[in-house]
Amino acid sequence: MAKTLNPLGWGYVEDALADRERAAVLKVAGGWMGGRVQERRAPPAPEAVRLPASRIAIPDALRDCVDGAHAARLLHARGRSFRDLAELRGGELRQAPDAVATPRSRQELERVLAWAGERDYAVIPYGGGSSVVGGVNPEGVGDARGVITLSLRGLDRVLDVDTRSRTVHAEAGILGPDLDAALKPYGLAVRHFPQSYFHSTLGGWVATRGAGHFSTGLAKIEDRVQALGVTLPDGRRVETRRLPASSIGPDPNRLWCGSEGFLGVITDVHLRGVALPTSRVSCGIRFKTFEQALEGARAIVQAGIQPTQLRILDPVEHLLSRAFAGRAATGALMVLAFESAGAPVEPLFAAAQELARAQGGEVLKQDGEEAVGDWRNTFFRQPYIRDALLDHAIVSDTFETAVPWSAVPGFYHAVRDAALRAVQEVCGVGMVSCRSTHSYTDGLCLYFAFFGPGRHGALVDQWWQLKAAASEAVARHGGTLSHHHAMGRDHKRWAQAELPEAFRAAIRAAKRELDPQGLLNPGLWYE
Ligand SMILES: Cc1cc2nc3c(=O)[nH]c(=O)nc-3n(C[C@H](O)[C@H](O)[C@H](O)COP(=O)(O)OP(=O)(O)OC[C@H]3O[C@@H](n4cnc5c(N)ncnc54)[C@H](O)[C@@H]3O)c2cc1C
Repeated sequence: MAKTLNPLGWGYVEDALADRERAAVLKVAGGWMGGRVQERRAPPAPEAVRLPASRIAIPDALRDCVDGAHAARLLHARGRSFRDLAELRGGELRQAPDAVATPRSRQELERVLAWAGERDYAVIPYGGGSSVVGGVNPEGVGDARGVITLSLRGLDRVLDVDTRSRTVHAEAGILGPDLDAALKPYGLAVRHFPQSYFHSTLGGWVATRGAGHFSTGLAKIEDRVQALGVTLPDGRRVETRRLPASSIGPDPNRLWCGSEGFLGVITDVHLRGVALPTSRVSCGIRFKTFEQALEGARAIVQAGIQPTQLRILDPVEHLLSRAFAGRAATGALMVLAFESAGAPVEPLFAAAQELARAQGGEVLKQDGEEAVGDWRNTFFRQPYIRDALLDHAIVSDTFETAVPWSAVPGFYHAVRDAALRAVQEVCGVGMVSCRSTHSYTDGLCLYFAFFGPGRHGALVDQWWQLKAAASEAVARHGGTLSHHHAMGRDHKRWAQAELPEAFRAAIRAAKRELDPQGLLNPGLWYE
């Protein structure tokens, strides 16, 4: 039976925490919050959430693919960050799309864009709507006379599989699991697993330069884009060439990787796939400290070993990942995994373990599988846990960054301490945890999470205070504002300073050429 998307929360309504799970989560979280957790306040009924009146009339010719009903407008009104969910639960939105278009062909897409152009409507490309940076929120759209959210979910076909080159050509609106399912009969896979895997699209991954957590060495999606197709607002079609590499000027694919919907609508992508793995090995390695574990990771990647997964949970994150399974934990945990479709993984696995041991790592025997399993089980459930915490006004969110190895561990301490101070100031008590999600030879991605007891009715405000403190700490200490979540609207204030002015001017010039009317996703960082 088809599941129902939750218009006010994460994922499917049917997959929300069961009462038993909810009670267990609250028991653990309540303990951490020193009993300051507020009473449960369920979200409003979706049909009771007030939206501004729609400003547009849908032409008869487009009625098949444009929906102006409350349910569609609400479902597409926000992404899925903590602040988005808190705003949705507030019962009234000041901005919402006036209508949602879901074209099922490129011709239909062109007609929608032509209509928007004639009427001066802003158009916000929308994949799975899992943005956590305000990327799909109809905010700051200037003097547009209306806002159309353009769902790409109607363009979700696999167009071709080139088994010899191991690439797949698929439309941009396909969801992660559907893409993998279509490739399986060919012995291929994508194995790009963002935590939002079930609810994010190929086009969204590319438009945000997202990162997966199990991607056989190519975690960042832009490294897997062989070519792409883009439709411009005036109907022009751009197709880049299918090549393994080229040096004919700057890479045209990279103009649209990370373009966040403002330089064109990505309609289809040729993506590099991988062979379905036939062997997998993984283990948990415990370290006394996060710093030692980071050194272990650095030693592994700088030895030229590229595990499929090399993830390190700091002691707080380790504790959290196990607490929801009712277990205790001490120290930092490294999750090390290799997979392969033929090449032997055991020698690399052994060599990586040896390098970890040299930094004080203890390869877990009995409960190693359990520790890795607890982490994996919690991984895709975490967003549902966030919804349950939100019922009790617990603020929980994440922010992520990347820095060179030379910046750690100082950067980790400085940012974690700043975030913890902010949580304590805003919420009274709270926690900050960190994990290293991606390791490169020259640096790493650090992914922080914060929790604290908030107040019903004040959550959006509290979140902004925490977001500002975290972003300022990251910027002050030299991290990027995002390793994989993108900039959206929420990072605009800080991210502008990160990019050289000449580059921003060049992007503005590209915007003028590709979208002279400024229809596509106005209000982002380039302005
Ligand atoms: C619980 C949770 C966990 C997450 N985990 C991860 C993670 O592990 N790794 C990661 O990288 N990200 C993660 N994210 C962030 C988010 O899932 C990614 O940014 C994802 O790539 C967005 O895909 P989407 O299809 O949902 O895009 P949307 O959210 O719909 O759109 C994102 C941006 O891309 C633009 N866009 C979307 N489709 C197109 C298109 N076809 N053409 C042009 N522009 C387009 C939109 O305008 C918007 O600016 C997570 C988010 C949540 C809520």
